[in-house]
Amino acid sequence: MSKLLVIGLDGGSFDILLPLVDQNQLPHIATLLREGSWGRLESTIPPFTAAAWSTFATGRNPGQHGILSFEKRNPYQYHSQLEGYVDGRQLTDTLWEIISRAGKRVIVVNVPVTYPPRPVNGLMVTGMMTPSNAAHFTYPPELAAELTDYRIDVDFIRAGDEFRKYKLPSKREMLAEIQAVTTIRSQNCLRLIKEQSWDFFMTVYTGTDRLCHFFWDDLTHLLLTNTPEQVDPQIRAGLLAYFKQLDVDIGALIAAAGPDTTVMLMSDHGFGPSPTKRFYVNLWLEQLGLLQPKQLQSKASLAYWRRRVGRNIWLKRLYRRLLSAEAQEQLSKSMQKEGVNSDIEWNDTRAYYVPIYFHVCGIEINTSGKHRAGIVETEAEYEMLRDHLLAATIALRDPQSNKPIVQQAYRRESLYAGPYTEQFPDIILVLDPDYIGMRSLAGSQLVESHEPFRPGEHRADGIFGVKGPGITVQADLPDLLLTDLPATILYLLDLPVPVSFDGRILSETVKPAIWQANPPQSQSAVGSQSGAAGDISYSAEEEVELEQRLRSLGYLE
Ligand SMILES: [Zn+2]
Repeated sequence: MSKLLVIGLDGGSFDILLPLVDQNQLPHIATLLREGSWGRLESTIPPFTAAAWSTFATGRNPGQHGILSFEKRNPYQYHSQLEGYVDGRQLTDTLWEIISRAGKRVIVVNVPVTYPPRPVNGLMVTGMMTPSNAAHFTYPPELAAELTDYRIDVDFIRAGDEFRKYKLPSKREMLAEIQAVTTIRSQNCLRLIKEQSWDFFMTVYTGTDRLCHFFWDDLTHLLLTNTPEQVDPQIRAGLLAYFKQLDVDIGALIAAAGPDTTVMLMSDHGFGPSPTKRFYVNLWLEQLGLLQPKQLQSKASLAYWRRRVGRNIWLKRLYRRLLSAEAQEQLSKSMQKEGVNSDIEWNDTRAYYVPIYFHVCGIEINTSGKHRAGIVETEAEYEMLRDHLLAATIALRDPQSNKPIVQQAYRRESLYAGPYTEQFPDIILVLDPDYIGMRSLAGSQLVESHEPFRPGEHRADGIFGVKGPGITVQADLPDLLLTDLPATILYLLDLPVPVSFDGRILSETVKPAIWQANPPQSQSAVGSQSGAAGDISYSAEEEVELEQRLRSLGYLE
C-alpha cells in the first residue's frame, strides 16, 4: 500500500482541537478529519507519557514491556528507593525495528523513550528521556550534525526543581520557548521528509503537552467556557498563534509527504483540569484496618516532626518562616534519605499505597516472601484482601459531596498481561480525575483540597485521525484504543502483525474493497534482533539531570 506519515501530538486533546477547528483556525487538521476517519483514542492506564508511548512503540500492554512510569523502583522494597529511570532499551521489537526488518525505510523523530538510539533501516532522532548532553541521540550518529539548531525539549523543563520553587519563567517566556522548539522540529522534519527516502515517517510534538499542562486554565477560558476576557491578551494571541502555526507545520509535512501518503494524527493521552482534591489513600487503608502507622515517640525523629507539622497549613507557614530556605532544603533532603513510608509499621500492615500517576493509584498487598517485611502469607488471604478492597472502593465516598471517589478498581491481571504484571501494584484504582492520590498519614481527613502547581493534567481520551487513499470517511468513531495503532500501522504498510501485539487493526477505517483485496497477515514468531547501539546508558550526571527534568514536570514529589 502507500507510504505512512504519523504525526504525534503529545497530550493532544479534541477538547482543544475541535473548538479551534470549528473556528476555522486549523484548516489542515480540519481537512484531515473531514476527509478521513477520526475519533477519541483511549490511552493506557495510567494515561501517562512513559506507559503510553512504550505501548505505542511495542504494540504491547505494560505487562509485556514493564513501563508504567519514568522511574524504576524495586516493587518489593516499599517503593522507597528510586533505582533509576526507564530508557528505550527496555523496549524490544519496536514498531520501527519490525518495519526496518521488513526492508522498509523508517524515519523516527522525537518519540519519547527511544533513547539510546538503536539501528534502524533509516534514521532515528531520540525523544523525551534523552539527556540534554547526550553524545549520541541519533542513528546514525552523523545525523546529529545534519540537524539545524535541534532541540529535544523546552529548556524550562530542564531547569528542574528551581523553577518550581522560585524561577518559573513567565507564561509569555514559556510560550515563546515552546513555539521556538516546535518550529525547529518542524523545519528539521520538513527537510528530512523532502530529502530522504522513506516508507514510514513519524514525529512527535511535545509542545502540546507542555502547553496543556501550563496553560489549561487559559485554554479553558478561550475554548471551553467562552470567557476570553479572563486571559491576558498577549497570552491569548500567543496560544492562538501556536496552534495556527502547528496546523501550518502539519499541513507542510502532509504536503511534502505527497497525496498518495496515508497520514495519521494521534496522541498518547488527552488533557483536562488538574485535581483540586487530595485523597489520602494510606489513611483510608488505615481506617479499613489494613495499615498500621508507627508510634512515633522520639522527638529526635524527623518522621515525628513531619507527622506533627503534617498538613497543618498554619504550622507549615510557621516552619517556612522560621527556617531559612537553606535549612528547609537540608531538612527535606534528610527526610528523603529517611525514606517515604518510614512512618508505616510494616509488621502490622497488609496493604499500602503506591503512587502511579495523579488520579491513578496503586495498592500493594504486603505479601510475605516478596516484601522484606511482608505478612500476608497465603494466596487465599491475598485474594480475600483484594476482594475486600475492591468492594470497599464502591462504598468509598467523598465525605463532603457524598460522591464516589473511585471510578474504576481493577485487579492488576485484569488490566495487564505479561511477565511484568506481577511487578505492578496488586490493585489499580482510577479515581475521579478531580482527585489526586496522596500517601501522607498526617491529619485525619480522607479528602482535603489541593492546590495544583499547574492547571492541566492528563486524561485518558486522546486523539486519532487517519486519511489516505485506502481510508474511509467517518466521524467520531467509538472504541479506539492506543494499543490498536501499532497493528493498524503495520497493516497500512502491508506488513504482518505479530501475534504478541495486543491491539487490533482498526479495520473500520479501511475501505472495504481495500480490506478484501488485502486481508490482514499475522506473524507468529518475530525474531528479536534488537540491541543498543554501543554501550550507552545513563551516567550519574545524566540521572541527576533527568530527575530534575521529571521533577519540573511534576512527576516526582
Ligand atoms: Zn504525554
